[in-house]
Amino acid sequence: ATPRAKVKVTAIPGDGIGPEVMRATQTVLAAAGALVEWEEALAGAEAFKRGIAAGATKETLDSIARNGVALKGPLETPVGFGDKSANVTLRKTFEMYGNIRPVRELPGIRTPFSGRGIDFVVVRENVEDVYAGIEHMQTPGVAQCLKIITEVGCERIVRLAAAVAEAEGRKKVTVATKANIMKLTEGMLKRSAEQVMPDYPGLQHEHMIVDNCAHQMVIRPEQFDVTVMTNMNGDILSDLAAGLVGGLGVAPSANLGDEAAMFEAVHGSAPQIAGKGVANPTALLLSSLMMLRHIGDFATARRIEHALYVTLEEGRDLTGDIARDGEGARTAAFVDRIIANLDRES
Ligand code: NAD
Repeated sequence: ATPRAKVKVTAIPGDGIGPEVMRATQTVLAAAGALVEWEEALAGAEAFKRGIAAGATKETLDSIARNGVALKGPLETPVGFGDKSANVTLRKTFEMYGNIRPVRELPGIRTPFSGRGIDFVVVRENVEDVYAGIEHMQTPGVAQCLKIITEVGCERIVRLAAAVAEAEGRKKVTVATKANIMKLTEGMLKRSAEQVMPDYPGLQHEHMIVDNCAHQMVIRPEQFDVTVMTNMNGDILSDLAAGLVGGLGVAPSANLGDEAAMFEAVHGSAPQIAGKGVANPTALLLSSLMMLRHIGDFATARRIEHALYVTLEEGRDLTGDIARDGEGARTAAFVDRIIANLDRES
């Protein structure tokens, strides 16, 4: 049901361009009267600086636990030394096992694939696989990493993919694995889908070897509807898929678990352009529309989506990464243009 009272949502501005794209998104949502009340929370570089090894404060975790919904900016991950990834902390704490990445052609965003009707969803398992980060040196000179896949994890990610397909009126679920080589781990996802998918008679089910899936995504991307993969395959192929429809600046995502949902842009903190007021807020804005639909505010989501599409189609005041004349506008000008388009009919 459409919410009447405002819904509390945890907002994590994050690092780099995070605070800029968060402010831009919140400005558009406020102008459209979205039924959201923000509770701002800290995670990422600032948390690490304060000595919080998990990268997210207790207040932040409590806020997400209370609200069950969060919108998050990118968090810098310290590379190659002790600290954990704050993103992994958040995903693991709330067991957000499903990463949903819609891949849809956007109006006005020209790519080599424009006009092909690309419209699919990558469902990536989000907590298992090699991302458990269990590595050690077997002998000096030989490193080993454990790939953990469970039946419980496979079944719930396949069911989530099927639920996404049904909720969006889609027809087909493609399970992409490397089961031909890793018969136990990758094979488990394939076998799980074979057992689970008959519960969804309205959906077609197919299996594809993941390297061919990468190839198919490039040569005939319009064939896909919902795809489901283990964590690392999904990580790589969802970025590939984002590249088909305009790249990281316009790619949204949702992390779903049984107790909490966290919406975020696919891109990182873009340190090269941080603080300059030129970042593209589209990816986070599209993520916030997934969030609005998650809390039931469909009308506002539709209205903002329309205004964004009109703005992209018009092509004026677009940020540098997607500007057609090569001359990028500032984030604030793009936001003003979207807000001005909120009440336009076409
Ligand atoms: P990145 O996504 O930050 O940047 C890749 C390229 O895309 C850069 O050229 C950048 O300028 C551009 N770009 C990204 N988002 C943009 C936007 N909204 N508007 C305009 N241009 C944009 O990837 P990276 O450089 O590999 O990572 C930087 C940091 O972000 C690292 O610390 C990484 O760990 C972190 N990261 C976090 C997340 C997350 O929080 N979910 C995801 C990816 C990377």
